[in-house]
Amino acid sequence: MTTVGILGGGQLARMLALAGAPLGLRFLVMDSLADACAAQFVPQLQADYRDQQALAEFASRIDVATFDFENVPASSAQWLAQRVPVFPVPSALAVAQDRLAEKTLFSELGIAVAAYARVDSRADLDYAVARVGLPAILKTRRLGYDGKGQFRLRQHGDVEAAWQALGAGAAALILEAMVPFQRELSVLAVRARDGEFRAWPITENWHCDGVLAASLAPAKVSSALQHAALASAQSIADALDYVGVFALELFECDGALLANEIAPRVHNSGHWTIEGACTSQFENHLRAVLGLPLGATAAIGHSCMLNWVGELPDARPVLSSPCGHWHAYGKSARPGRKVGHATFTAPDRVQLADAVSAVAATLQRSAQIAGPLARLRAQTAMWDAP
Ligand code: AMP
Repeated sequence: MTTVGILGGGQLARMLALAGAPLGLRFLVMDSLADACAAQFVPQLQADYRDQQALAEFASRIDVATFDFENVPASSAQWLAQRVPVFPVPSALAVAQDRLAEKTLFSELGIAVAAYARVDSRADLDYAVARVGLPAILKTRRLGYDGKGQFRLRQHGDVEAAWQALGAGAAALILEAMVPFQRELSVLAVRARDGEFRAWPITENWHCDGVLAASLAPAKVSSALQHAALASAQSIADALDYVGVFALELFECDGALLANEIAPRVHNSGHWTIEGACTSQFENHLRAVLGLPLGATAAIGHSCMLNWVGELPDARPVLSSPCGHWHAYGKSARPGRKVGHATFTAPDRVQLADAVSAVAATLQRSAQIAGPLARLRAQTAMWDAP
C-alpha cells in the first residue's frame, strides 16, 4: 500500500486524495491548521512545516511527498527530500517561489514577459518606475498568490503609497509593467519522472480582484498560439526537471503571449479536468509523482468552471442542471476564501452556453458568469469570434 504525503491540507490536497482513491492510494497531509479541509477524510499531521520532529514523523509514514501549497519553506522541502522522494523537486519549487527567479528563467529560455525590474529599496523603486513605465504592478517576490501582495501604480503619485504598502517592511519586490491583455490563458501540463510531457487543452480564465472567477476550456486559440504556449511550458518543465502537474499563466496581448508565472502544483484553472478531460489534473499529478504511466489529457467536450469565493451559492440550480457538477470544499464562509466550485460540461459550446445561462439567474452570480458566457455566445455566433 503506497502512502502519498501532501504538504498542505487544503482543497487541492482534498481533490488529490479523491483522485487517488481509485488508484488504491493512502494519504497523509501535513498542515498547521486545525480545520484543514482535506483532513475531513485524510489523516493529518497537524504541525508547522518548519517543525523538524514533525517532518521526520511525516517522512517515516509516507512513500513519496508532494505539495498542495507552494510556499512551503525550501529548506523544509530539501530536508524532506533527503529522506523520501519529493516531487516536484525542491529546486523547481524554489524558482517558482520567487517571481524574480521565475521571470529570469523565462527570459533565459526566450519566453516573452512584461517589462520588469527588481526592487529592494525605495531608490530601486524610482529607478524601476522610470525603466518599466506606468501603469505598473508592484508585487512581493515571495508568498504572493491570488492577487495578495500586489499594489497597482497608475501615476507617479502612487509610488510612495506602493512603497508604504509593500516595501517599507524591507520586502524583496518586483515591479512589472501592467499588461493591457485581451485574455488570460493557462497551460496545464504534466511531466513524468522519465521526462514525458503532456498538456491539457489551453484554458481561458477570468479573475476578479486577482482571484480566479471562471475558466473555459478548451479555449479557442490559433494553432500558432497553442504551439507557442505548449513549447514554453515544456521548455520550463525541462529546465526545472519538473515532475508533476503545473500551470503556466499567460497573458494574450495583441496576438502574442507573455508569461506571468508558473504554479508548481495542481491549479485552480485545471479543476474543469475532473469532469471535462480523459484524466484529471489530480490523477495525472499522482501518476507522475509515483512514476506511473500518464493518462490522456484530451478534453471530453467543453467545460466552464465557476469558482465560489467567500461563500457557496445555493447548490440546487447546479445539481439540477444535466451538465452541472458541484464541489464544496467543506470550508466555512469567509471573504476572499475559495470554498467550492462548479463545472459545467457539454458536448459543444452551444449546449454549454445554454446550460450556464440557465443557472446564471438563479445563482445570482451574473457578473462572474458574464465573461465566459459572452465568450461562448460570441464563439457560437455566425461570425465565430476568437
Ligand atoms: P498573479 O498573482 O501574478 O497571478 O496576479 C493575479 C492577477 O493579477 C492576474 O491573473 C492578472 O489578472 C493580474 N495581473 C498580474 N500581473 C499583471 C500584469 N503584469 N499586468 C496586468 N495584470 C496583471
